[in-house]
Amino acid sequence: MWTEIINKIDHHYDDMVKMRRFLHRNPELSFQEENTAKFIANTYEKLGIPFQTKVGGNGVIARLVGGKPGKTIALRADFDALPIQDEKKVSYKSNVPGVMHACGHDGHTTTLLTVAEHLKDYQEKLAGTIVFIHQHAEELAPGGAKPIIDTGILDDVDLMFGTHLWTNTPYGIVQTAPKEFMAGADRFSVTIQGKGGHGAMPHQTKDAIVIGSQLVTNLQQIISRRIDPLQTAVLTIGTFHAGNTYNIIADTATITGTVRTFDKDLQTKIINEMETIIAGTCQSYGATYSFEYDKGYPPVVNHPTEANIVIEAANQVEEVTKAELVEPSMTGEDFAYYLIEKPGAFFFTGAQKENDFQPHHHPKFDIDERAMVIAAKTFIELIKKYQ
Ligand code: MN
Repeated sequence: MWTEIINKIDHHYDDMVKMRRFLHRNPELSFQEENTAKFIANTYEKLGIPFQTKVGGNGVIARLVGGKPGKTIALRADFDALPIQDEKKVSYKSNVPGVMHACGHDGHTTTLLTVAEHLKDYQEKLAGTIVFIHQHAEELAPGGAKPIIDTGILDDVDLMFGTHLWTNTPYGIVQTAPKEFMAGADRFSVTIQGKGGHGAMPHQTKDAIVIGSQLVTNLQQIISRRIDPLQTAVLTIGTFHAGNTYNIIADTATITGTVRTFDKDLQTKIINEMETIIAGTCQSYGATYSFEYDKGYPPVVNHPTEANIVIEAANQVEEVTKAELVEPSMTGEDFAYYLIEKPGAFFFTGAQKENDFQPHHHPKFDIDERAMVIAAKTFIELIKKYQ
């Protein structure tokens, strides 16, 4: 049965490419993915696999109940696109101006539908239940994962797996990590209220640019001087806006940035240190401030046993040249929420095109489509491990 499924995936590669390119031409933004959700639902309808739509938003969840008892394993694929203009010169470039599948979620969807299609043929021989999670809105916090989990539809799931087709990693390589795999990604904004005035009479003002500059310097010292050097964190200031013209002292300044961590206590510590430094700096200049901190997705923390099972499964796939445990990446993913609830692991399936590397979220982003085969076969090998 398993060899037959693997062979079927190979024989239906052209169908996978066709489906992925159809999705690629028809991208939809996070929380607006209604047609994509319909496409997914129609596919399950045709396959005769029961499914539910509008789960936690535009989510579609299908369930294949095997003929024999066993574990309930959930596999997840996201399906939203990004507000980016597709600049590729290919027949399958996006039909929608300003919207593009620039993160490979079209490939995730195709991969999962392919796994469902071929497993269906062997439903009676299958031990356990496979839950196919087609998740909307990964790209835009608060995301789709959390509302899907909150419906309770995954309460009976024993194990969770998901992959990201990853162009930072060459085709043929599968990567995961035993614990922390991707970072928690937060954003913040500080607005300083000083007192504007004439550039020639600074003593009558509270210069928001001077205060803001001091604040940028002071905030950098959180990571370098207040956090254990063996702990990992990033605090990046991405924007600093103040002032209107050369001879006026700025009334206000706004600073925005991102904080990335792998640990909740460390995140809390950084937020508290920020508040202390912002309050202290502003107070010393007689300025006031507002500080907004939005917690984004928590870190993706794999479970060691399942991460090792991913490596073992990937090593069974003929096209995989290397399956390896790697250091975490500071990027974020809302797959994090599933792994807070259930044991499991998230992994990267290398999808870098030879001699044409484009990073994720780039206007020329594209995947090596053969990576979908590796992802699908790794999912199949994972299920096989629990038979
Ligand atoms: Mn993504």
